[in-house]
Amino acid sequence: MSCPRIEVDLGKIRRNTQTLVARLGPRGIRVTGVTKAVCGHPAIAQAMLDGGASGLADARISNVQRLRSAGMTGSITLIRTPMSSQADQVAQSCEASYNTEILVISALAAAAIRNSSVHGIILMVEMGDQREGILPENLADITQQVMQMPGLALIGIGANFACLSGLAPTTLQMSNFSDLANEIEGACGPLLKVVSGGNSANLPWALGERATGRVNDLRLGEAILLGVEPVSGKQIGGMHTDAFTLVAEVIESNAKPAPAAIALVGPNLARRRIAQVSGVSKRFIVAIGHQDTDILGISMPDGSTLIGATSDHLVIGTSRPLPKVGSEVRFQMNYNALMHSMAAPDVKVKLLGTPPTTPSRDIQGKSDHLVLV
Ligand SMILES: *Cc1c(COP(=O)(O)O)cnc(C)c1O
Repeated sequence: MSCPRIEVDLGKIRRNTQTLVARLGPRGIRVTGVTKAVCGHPAIAQAMLDGGASGLADARISNVQRLRSAGMTGSITLIRTPMSSQADQVAQSCEASYNTEILVISALAAAAIRNSSVHGIILMVEMGDQREGILPENLADITQQVMQMPGLALIGIGANFACLSGLAPTTLQMSNFSDLANEIEGACGPLLKVVSGGNSANLPWALGERATGRVNDLRLGEAILLGVEPVSGKQIGGMHTDAFTLVAEVIESNAKPAPAAIALVGPNLARRRIAQVSGVSKRFIVAIGHQDTDILGISMPDGSTLIGATSDHLVIGTSRPLPKVGSEVRFQMNYNALMHSMAAPDVKVKLLGTPPTTPSRDIQGKSDHLVLV
């Protein structure tokens, strides 16, 4: 089988989505499946829909177009504020987009009119992450402006946490966000269809003791794909953390005299060398490198340690019997490694599990056994 490759267990992605949908549903929160880490891979997106996600979202228009070309007809939202240079493409392929800039919003209005469609606007509010967002004090004013623009429909507000700051949302921030939804409705009139509270970092809050207020949507990528909560990196109970496996081939396997002294090559960590002080080291090389993944984000096999990596080689030391040349080594990936590998041109994607048949939800829950496709 071709290497390097990522094996994707679609059944685990579907079940992870089902688990989150089942836990969040009773709290009035829908799940929007975020596909950016898998570059809008259509079968993975379909597994999210089959698991009960109410829609899809991605950060890049190229990924959205990939989903549309594969025949996805459901709702897709752009979660990164659009480039105004891409306004026409956004109006053509996305139901709605998250926005923070009135200039971009006007470009979208013009594009929607050219496209004879109505584009949904969700205003992203800055609630503390210090990445994108409209300041709460400016929200009412911008809401008014959006409501007056033809070609647009204001459908909601959103918040985002933990992406830049690494800080999970607090109960107070979340209740402020709900208050803001009420204030906007009070001041401007429209019922906000979408009050999107954040990403996977919101799960401890959303599944916690306190009431979730006005929030009726979360945009979830990492939790669905990797079964973890991103701030702590911990597994979410009942979720699969091994839906993705990176598989690479051994191209050299031997014992080498360890270097006698530390040789520091290159100033940055990416070129670090771990020095061995004495003896013979058992080491093998697999045919992946910095070009294929985030080396620091992959797990080493049992009994093995990372010696170093270059653009195309990964050198691993082991205390176990050496693997044969031509054999395969399997790695689990964190989010950065997954994102990097899914976008790497030489890494193939191999789907395991039931393939989605039609873009409908009818197959939900059926055929949980794994088959190779
Ligand atoms: C990436 C992203 C998400 C999804 O984040 P996860 O941590 O993968 O759940 C949600 N919203 C926005 C705006 C994003 O950029």
